[in-house]
Amino acid sequence: MIFAGGRGSRMGNVDKGLQPFRGATLVAHVLQRFAPQVTALTISANRSHEAYASLGAPVLADELGGFAGPLAGLQAGLRRCATPLLATVPCDSPFLPDNLVQRLRDALLAQDADLALAVTMEADDSGAARKQPHPVFSLMKTDVLPRLDAYLARGGRKMDGWHDGLKVAEVLFTDAAAFRNINTREELLAEDRVHRLADLTGDLDPGAMPVRQARHVIERFVRPVRGVEKVALRAALGRVLAEDVISPISVPAHDNSAMDGFAFDGAQLSADHPTRLKVIGTDFAGRPSGLQPGPGQCLRIMTGAVMPAGCDTVLPQEHAAGVEDDCLTIAPRSVRPGDNRRLRGEDLMAGRPALAAGKIVRPAELGLIASLGIAEVPVRRRLRVAFFSTGDELRSVGEPLAQGCVYDSNRYTLFGMLTRLGCELVDMGIVKDDPAALEAALRDACQSADAVVTSGGVSAGAADYTRDIMARLGEVAFWTIGMRPGRPMAFGRIGAEGHEAFLFGLPGNPVAVMVSFYFFARPALLRMMGADAPADLLVQARCAEPIRKRQGRTEFQRGVLSIAPDGSREVRITGAQGSGILRSMTVANCIVVLPDECGNVAAGDLVEVLMFEGLV
Ligand code: AMP
Ligand code: MG
Repeated sequence: MIFAGGRGSRMGNVDKGLQPFRGATLVAHVLQRFAPQVTALTISANRSHEAYASLGAPVLADELGGFAGPLAGLQAGLRRCATPLLATVPCDSPFLPDNLVQRLRDALLAQDADLALAVTMEADDSGAARKQPHPVFSLMKTDVLPRLDAYLARGGRKMDGWHDGLKVAEVLFTDAAAFRNINTREELLAEDRVHRLADLTGDLDPGAMPVRQARHVIERFVRPVRGVEKVALRAALGRVLAEDVISPISVPAHDNSAMDGFAFDGAQLSADHPTRLKVIGTDFAGRPSGLQPGPGQCLRIMTGAVMPAGCDTVLPQEHAAGVEDDCLTIAPRSVRPGDNRRLRGEDLMAGRPALAAGKIVRPAELGLIASLGIAEVPVRRRLRVAFFSTGDELRSVGEPLAQGCVYDSNRYTLFGMLTRLGCELVDMGIVKDDPAALEAALRDACQSADAVVTSGGVSAGAADYTRDIMARLGEVAFWTIGMRPGRPMAFGRIGAEGHEAFLFGLPGNPVAVMVSFYFFARPALLRMMGADAPADLLVQARCAEPIRKRQGRTEFQRGVLSIAPDGSREVRITGAQGSGILRSMTVANCIVVLPDECGNVAAGDLVEVLMFEGLV
């Protein structure tokens, strides 16, 4: 049963299920995902019966009048239900999981429960993970009806208010976004708007697309995927933080010494004559003496040891004017009150964010999280990326190479680049230059992945049928980008069987694939992973030799960056720059980025380079 019987008050009293959404209605999207999971389907609706009936499912009105809520719909449904189990979903959740009913059923049977419902883990305001039940996404035995009748007769209306006394199985789903519902017009519009690539490309000429514009359009069109999982700290390396990491403790937890030396009350220091203090003991890090120096006394203290009560100053031992017979002499002005003391909470205060959501966890972040005593971190689910190569001439490694054929190398460079990004990969192999094969591959890809990266087949000659197929599957722009190498590229979003994926149709030439991946796909994929907008880490270097460059397009040339004898950075281009010469990429350690406005480069000019090292 799909619940569409509400008043839609938050949407201005419109019939929510019938609101247009991505080329259909909300309820049609729900139906498309839900229908394959059940044997028979009913829509619960209290108006617009004809519109709902046109979807091909029987429509059932509440017996209880006055828009009494989903439970009234459920009651009507249970009374008519011909199967022993009834599953329910709302009409405004177009992203519901494909395996919802299957998983609820497995749990219901395994636990011999009366009712199973979905739960997800969601972050509360403080960032802590909290269980979120979704009682509208449920599966129940039809013999629960008398209990529901009784609850409704008592005036109860709460979706899970009648569960007392039922055996309820909770089923944890990791993809919280799948349960997202669309409540307001704004949400509906926002969800719909991002779907239209044409709104972003506007008047731009696809046949002469500047690099900057292409990057801008791509960046605005892609969206972070939803879904959070908790992983053990070490497993978080390379993943994207899904929530701020809030410090449960202050770091350091106590005022402590920044030096090996002597701790005392700084008020005793004199500006014009030496200060003499008696050393009464030693405080080690993690091993305090418990002694408290009084006036005229001090403690020997080691770095990291907690500052003893009454002490606010540490004299580093190498600054002591003398230590004899347990008597410390401090020369005037050799230390000021408060020096060499690390304050409690100086690095981090308890309750404050230590790391922000969106940060990629690197070794420093791992260490910082460990320093807070946190053993598990919420990270974004891995981005799933499907990729394949196209071309009749391609052979896989291990196959004999027939006349005129080449080995498929793009799938290996893509494998490397995607693996470095931390994506979950779906390697779809080689797809022939054949419309049916391409369509089947693309359909498959969007069902198994968030993004599809292809190589080859997008250049002018090949693009004709590619264009038709891609246009049929979604909205895809074909660009000729003002760059070299890597002029042709397809970008957009395609869908099949209710699943959508962003598409990056990269050129076929091996160097062009890598360049367009690094400059277009990589930033977009990072954004889809929920990572902070990555800046291109371009560094400046002096050009060792002149470079010929045509103004009005961006050229990416393979370079070798080195340190010149005078200590400055200098870069040299690696010989021939043909876009098929993959060896040039292995010789290079950077790409020299020559922007549109740049013309010929003279020896000694400053240029910007993108280092390969660090492109993780
Ligand atoms: P295309 O864009 O399909 O016209 O391909 C352009 C050039 O790149 C042709 O010379 C192809 O043979 C070559 N090429 C395309 N895909 C691959 C691949 N996966 N591995 C190596 N070379 C490729
Ligand atoms: Mg080809």
